[in-house]
Amino acid sequence: MSISGSKKVLVLGGSRGIGAAIVRRFAKEGADVTFTYAKSPDAALALAAETGAKAIHADSADRQAVIETTASMGAIDVLVVNSAIGVFGDVFELAADDIDKMLQINVNTPYHASVEAARRMPAGGRIIILGSVNGDRIPVPGMAAYALSKSAMQGMARGLARDFGPRGITINVVQPGPIDTDANPHDGPMAETLHSFMAIKRHAHPDEVAHMVSWLAGPETGFITGAMHTIDGGFAA
Ligand code: NDP
Repeated sequence: MSISGSKKVLVLGGSRGIGAAIVRRFAKEGADVTFTYAKSPDAALALAAETGAKAIHADSADRQAVIETTASMGAIDVLVVNSAIGVFGDVFELAADDIDKMLQINVNTPYHASVEAARRMPAGGRIIILGSVNGDRIPVPGMAAYALSKSAMQGMARGLARDFGPRGITINVVQPGPIDTDANPHDGPMAETLHSFMAIKRHAHPDEVAHMVSWLAGPETGFITGAMHTIDGGFAA
C-alpha cells in the first residue's frame, strides 16, 4: 500500500460499463483511484467528479501511451485492465485492420500494462484482467477473433503468474458472461439468444463483476494467481 495508507489503483478503460463500476467500487472502499479513457471524455469527467478518482486520456490502442501511463503511476497496488473492444461479424468480411486494432487493445495492452505495473509494484500487488467467458465458449459464429483475444488472456495470466510470483504479485483473469453495459445491453438484439445458453437467464449488473474484482484485489487472495474466474450465470456450464 502507498504511504498514505490508501490502496493505489489504476484501471485502464474506466469511463463506462464494467470499468466504471470497478472505479466506483474501489473509490467507495477509500482507494486512491486513477482510470483511463479514450472516446468518452464526458462520461470520464462525470465519473471523476462523482468518485474523486483521477481520469487520464490514454488510448489502449496506443502501446506507448499505455506503457507511459502505467509507468508514470509508479508503485501501484492494483492494476485492472478492463479496456477492450469487440469486432464481430462474418469472418470473410471483417477488415484485417479492425482485427489488428482489437488485438492491440485486447491482447497487447494487457500484456504491456501488466509488465510495466509489475516492474514497480510492491509485494502484495494485484493485477486483474477482464477476459470473457468467450475465452472458454463460443456458441455462435462471428466471434472467433474476439474469442482469440480473450483466450489469449488465459495463457498470458498463467505465464505472467510464474514471472510475478517471486515478487509476491498475483495476476488473475475475470471472465464475465453477459453484463448489462453499452456493449451488451440487457434488452439488445442478442439478449434472448444469450439467455438461452445460461442457467441464470439474465444479464448481470456491472457491480456484480466489480465485486469479484474487488475481492481478487483484497488481502485474502494472495494465494490465487494464474487463474480464471468466471462470472457468467452458467453460460459455460
Ligand atoms: P463497454 O464497451 O461498455 O465499455 C468499455 C470501456 O473500455 C469504456 O470505458 C471505454 O472507454 C474503454 N475502452 C475501450 N477501448 C478503449 C481504448 N482504446 N482506450 C481506453 N479505453 C478504452 O464494455 P463493457 O463494460 O461491457 O466491458 C468491459 C470489459 O468486460 C471488456 O474487457 C469486455 O471485453 C469484458 N466483457 C464484457 C461483457 C459484457 O457482456 N458486457 C462480457 C464479457 C466480457 P471510452 O468509451 O472512453 O473509450
